[in-house]
Amino acid sequence: MQIPANNPALQSWVPYATDTEFPIQNLPFGIFETQTSSKRVGVRIGDFVLDLFQISNFGYFSDLCFSTQDFEQPFLNPMMRHGKLAIRELRNRISALLSKDNNSFQIRKNEHQALIPITEIQMSLPVQIGDYTDFYSSKEHATNVGVMFRDPANALLPNWLWIPVGYHGRASSVIASEHPVVRPKGQIKPDDNAAPIFAPSRQVDFELEMGFVTFDGKALGESISTSEAEEFIFGLCLFNDWSARDIQKWEYVPLGPFLAKNFASSMSCWIVTLDALQPFACATPTQDPEVLSYLKFEGNKSYDIQLEVAIEAPACKEQVVSRSNFKYMYWNMSQQLAHHTVNGCNVRCGDLMGSGTISGPTPDSYGSMLELAWKGTKPIQMPDGSERRFIQDYDTVIMRGHCENNGIKIGFGEVKSQLLPAN
Ligand code: MN
Repeated sequence: MQIPANNPALQSWVPYATDTEFPIQNLPFGIFETQTSSKRVGVRIGDFVLDLFQISNFGYFSDLCFSTQDFEQPFLNPMMRHGKLAIRELRNRISALLSKDNNSFQIRKNEHQALIPITEIQMSLPVQIGDYTDFYSSKEHATNVGVMFRDPANALLPNWLWIPVGYHGRASSVIASEHPVVRPKGQIKPDDNAAPIFAPSRQVDFELEMGFVTFDGKALGESISTSEAEEFIFGLCLFNDWSARDIQKWEYVPLGPFLAKNFASSMSCWIVTLDALQPFACATPTQDPEVLSYLKFEGNKSYDIQLEVAIEAPACKEQVVSRSNFKYMYWNMSQQLAHHTVNGCNVRCGDLMGSGTISGPTPDSYGSMLELAWKGTKPIQMPDGSERRFIQDYDTVIMRGHCENNGIKIGFGEVKSQLLPAN
């Protein structure tokens, strides 16, 4: 099925650079405000935001199922509640309005009024997140952690190749890009042979992840199959799942991550629809042993999304520390959603699923400082001569991601957050 808005031949009357991450083929959704306007839904094109509340007021969506009020909201949820097919129609309509083929003078005049330079807007958290689940789906990451903390000969736990392992995270501390993160305090055990102490974490780390946001799923008690899963996924964002490794190491047995993980998770502000990513679907890594029947799937369910992480310090220009790719994930989103609901657990509009740290096969593609600096034994060199084993106070972590083929580049922008000293 070809989605009209994905047509690589489309051009827009909105001017943008040829290498923009936001060409007419992308059209991601977000929440923005200006000095004078309330929070509302916007769509990014080039270095502009199209104000959907205004466009709806002009009547361009009057034959669609949305109400104008769906677009004057602090979150995308009321718009998303109309579901996958409605959002697809909406994106196709926006694409048509912004297309060069649209020659109506009146339409262009109205659209110009609703087109705001990104320098004049403020973005915020796009989705009201009901529940946040974090998976652990990169084989390379799980293997690296197993080698470091358990047993190199049995790095993967016995369940890992059978189950898309995950845990329930905390939605209240998911924050938007640009929002600073305070260094967490907690119980740590710097000396293995002594009692724990209470102190600021000394091992604050990032986790390079992608998140996906769901539409309303099925009723409690029902399940979503792998073949249905993508119909319940609205879109994807970049996701930095901040972690305190020293707190984690002491607290995580027997029930898994708790305070080491719930102090902050940062998401990028533009949600790129799964529809826009269809041209970048690709094959999944081979799964061996063969998975149980409810986890089997057909077609290309991975996505070729190039990712990078950079660290910037106040007196030091940024250093790229990792280059990875979303396609390395062993378990794909369709399997994650099928597994999440196979017991009858329901997902709701605005739920967020983290992929788990995305590590690639080579040391420069690892998705956390824990792995990049290998438990502190291989510090990362910064341009000013300093070293990083973990993230220091006032460091800024920046994650970026984009897809590219046939001359079309679809990007996510960035998720960027500065670490502040402990309170
Ligand atoms: Mn995580």
